[in-house]
Amino acid sequence: MSTVNVDPAEIAKFSALASRWWDPNSEFAPLHAINPLRLGWIDQLSPLAGRKVLDVGCGGGILAEAMAEHGATVTGIDLAEKSLKVAKLHLLESGRSVDYRAISAEDLAAEAPGSFDVVTCMEMLEHVPDPASTVAACARLVKPGGSVFFSTINRNPKSWLFAIVGAEYVLRLLPRGTHEYAKFITPSELAGFARRAGLEVGSMNGMTYNPLTRVYALNPSDTDVNYLMHTVRPA
Ligand code: SAH
Repeated sequence: MSTVNVDPAEIAKFSALASRWWDPNSEFAPLHAINPLRLGWIDQLSPLAGRKVLDVGCGGGILAEAMAEHGATVTGIDLAEKSLKVAKLHLLESGRSVDYRAISAEDLAAEAPGSFDVVTCMEMLEHVPDPASTVAACARLVKPGGSVFFSTINRNPKSWLFAIVGAEYVLRLLPRGTHEYAKFITPSELAGFARRAGLEVGSMNGMTYNPLTRVYALNPSDTDVNYLMHTVRPA
């Protein structure tokens, strides 16, 4: 790996779970549950059919495959080789087509700048040592006029209670240690990374979970815990 913006412990964490990416009852259940919500929001702001799309930190391909199903030509990148193997194997089952590559966003940005209509980077920034560098790489990768979508976890007492205590200890939706509070990113910090990378910040959306009904929902007025941000590279 020629990049420094990767935490080997994070890659090991996801590699250990890799065989379960497509098990909807596994540690990845929350990603399966939120997938139609985030896909709908992305497609509404930036219609995917016929577009060239890059999914950064694609894991087993939950979002990448769904975007391909929507008619996009999708490339998925990740640095966990095991996850990419599972992602490629799953294409045989689904019959969909995604180009998966083990390369960092920074290295792909040097190799193929300005090549994608849409870049998505979901639930990944809180796992890298230098999220601003990933945001800048996404900004270089998208074509002028194209959109970059980010999602991550806000940092405040409520997000600590919901995303760590609630999700990892009480409801056990995620393995303990999945998330580290200090790596959470506030919307203003993310907007700052985006602006410094030359992106214009558009709208945000919040993702909420009701533990009683077990229903996930989008709620633009609640970005306290999980949230999405739409940004645009000026034409
Ligand atoms: N984006 C997917 C997976 C989120 S899990 C989804 O939302 O469904 C976080 C992913 O980020 C894992 O697949 C992990 O391997 C990947 N990741 C962590 N650090 C990375 C890095 N430095 N470069 C690329 N991918 C990374």
